[in-house]
Amino acid sequence: MKLLQLSSSIENAPMVNEARGKIFRNNGIRTIEDLLWYLPFRYEDWRQISRIKDLKDGQIATVSGTVVRSHLHLTARKRFKILEVSVQDASGTLLVRFFNQPYLKEHFEKTRKVILHGMVRVDPFGHDAEMENPQYEILKKEEDASTYLQTRPVYERISSITPKMLRWIIKQSLESIPNQAFGEPLSDELRKKYKLVDRRAAFSQLHFPGTDTSLEDLQNRRSQGHRRLIFEEFFLLEVGLAYRQKARPKKSRRIATDDRIREQAKQALPFKLTTAQKRVIREIVDDMKAETVMYRLLQGDVGSGKTIVALMSSIVAIENGYQVALMVPTEILAEQHYSNISYLLRNTKYIVRQLIGAQSKKVRAQALEEIASGASPLVIGTHALIQDPVKFRRLGLVIIDEQHRFGVLQREALVKKGEHPDCLIMTATPIPRSLALTVYGDLETSVLDEMPPGRKKIITKKWPLKKKAELYHSIAEAVRTGKQVYVLCPLIEESEELQLTAAEKLASELRRTFSDLKIGLIHGGIPPGEREILMRDFLERRIQMLVATTVIEVGIDVPNASIMVVEHAERFGLSQLHQLRGRVGRGTDQSYCYLLIPSEADLTEEAKMRIGAMLDTDNGFKIAETDLKIRGPGELTGTRQSGLPTFRIGNLLLDQNILEIARKEAFEFVESNRTNSEVLRNFFQRYWNDRFGLVQVG
Ligand code: ADP
Ligand code: MG
Repeated sequence: MKLLQLSSSIENAPMVNEARGKIFRNNGIRTIEDLLWYLPFRYEDWRQISRIKDLKDGQIATVSGTVVRSHLHLTARKRFKILEVSVQDASGTLLVRFFNQPYLKEHFEKTRKVILHGMVRVDPFGHDAEMENPQYEILKKEEDASTYLQTRPVYERISSITPKMLRWIIKQSLESIPNQAFGEPLSDELRKKYKLVDRRAAFSQLHFPGTDTSLEDLQNRRSQGHRRLIFEEFFLLEVGLAYRQKARPKKSRRIATDDRIREQAKQALPFKLTTAQKRVIREIVDDMKAETVMYRLLQGDVGSGKTIVALMSSIVAIENGYQVALMVPTEILAEQHYSNISYLLRNTKYIVRQLIGAQSKKVRAQALEEIASGASPLVIGTHALIQDPVKFRRLGLVIIDEQHRFGVLQREALVKKGEHPDCLIMTATPIPRSLALTVYGDLETSVLDEMPPGRKKIITKKWPLKKKAELYHSIAEAVRTGKQVYVLCPLIEESEELQLTAAEKLASELRRTFSDLKIGLIHGGIPPGEREILMRDFLERRIQMLVATTVIEVGIDVPNASIMVVEHAERFGLSQLHQLRGRVGRGTDQSYCYLLIPSEADLTEEAKMRIGAMLDTDNGFKIAETDLKIRGPGELTGTRQSGLPTFRIGNLLLDQNILEIARKEAFEFVESNRTNSEVLRNFFQRYWNDRFGLVQVG
């Protein structure tokens, strides 16, 4: 038998010729290791044979018998080819139907011994029991049924490679790998502590669970093999994160605070900071003063007051002679921060500049020059900040707002504009702890867990679309008494154009009905400059009702707006709804959020869950947890670009407890400097490159 290494290419596996190799490759299986990681997604219990006579309706059963009849026929309309097979054991006869698999006729020949596994149908009239499209094994003449009577893994099908062949290839391959070729990134100590089997044993168990493995453990992903591999995967990721944290560069700047700076900061404060804001600012400033570069994540629900935290931190950097770049995802938000912050800093000598796409050449050129010369200590902008011509003189602090809208690369591009600037990353999409540990596991975290005073809970209601006229009429009344309203257009993700049309239609309907109200419309098709004017009009109450698309999702702050209507709320994502709702409830008025939905019966289960969660809670962390449950981790944070690693076996929802332990051990491991061994180093390098493709390991 040819010996295999984990890194051997898939064509080296037994029975894998060039053609099959290609099929494997097309399915992402390039090496023997990839093959081993092609794990079953569920397990079937084939351990016990049932007598046909004892079969019960609805039961999932395994039956062993002989084919006594096999007949292929077409349905009346010739659409379906149905193979009907009668299988007999000593107790009775089972009727089996296979749909549209005519080629099975050759296999299910009379007198062949077969094993069938599937859901049983038994009618009350004494007909033979039936199975439709069951799983099956056809025994060779000399074969004994008992070899198949095991807990059996079920794989996602790889086009023309049959499950049987796949199992065989995996089995042969596993046996051809010498023990030492599996490697062992986990220390004996760790393995003993958490009762973790070695890699070979883990893969063997998952692919070929013996009779002694509990089926329940397999189904729950808690067999020894599962625990071992899940732990390993998380451990390797966390070791990488720990390295990254440890390898943080030292900075040459020295940041200090004194009374003068505190006075300067105080002057810019329009209100008293909350205790949470004070605590968070202290955490940030302590980091800025430290020797190593700051990488801190600030999580704070919508409206928790992150902007002022950013500003206070900026003042510390600026007063120490450094420049600050504040990057935000949309031009509206950039403009809003720019005007707010300029206003708050009006009594200082700071020249605040803005960099956005929609800017006249002249304004831009001047800004660029002032940034390069250091004349402007504070720059607020969009992605425009990371473009080539932007040069800073002494960039010391980078702040990224609404971080989930940016990819890792964009974040890093901005950081590269300075010499190891401190980095503050702010997000209003609180991240469930499990995600935070994987995506931002190397960052320090601050949480703004207190809302500014005077906030009232937003009253959230669902409202039938059918009765929306009624709702709009009472809202119009409220508007006439000075309230301001956001109206969210139904989301149309497929087409920007349709989205704009829908927005325009809704706005003109409302204008027609309420001709006495000043109704504005804002959407992605409106040039940024005009959008800014619209937002200002809304802020200064020249617009009373603002019809909008999700362009207002992030950051926009109009405290007097206290009513929000979301048309077809069922189309929005949960976190998105929560973000949108965060646009109201910012002032002292009682705020309302109306979720307009079709009748309950027309909602998908997921939509019901989303709406339900919105009615239940306004806690961003709870919302995020629920969103994670509904959508799964992949979609929540978007693509790989956003930094969320893809796991082969670990599941952030189901395996959070293992993740926490793996993380603790990984950080201790790196801290204790036991990572000098060449073998381990290779392991981590390879894992980080192959699996997570993020950053080089220290
Ligand atoms: P977010 O965390 O969503 O970015 P903002 O920074 O936009 O929140 O703050 C939301 C609103 O709360 C703003 O109107 C801001 O001026 C106000 N605010 C923030 N902190 C305080 C505070 N300590 N006291 C009173 N109002 C505050
Ligand atoms: Mg904000």
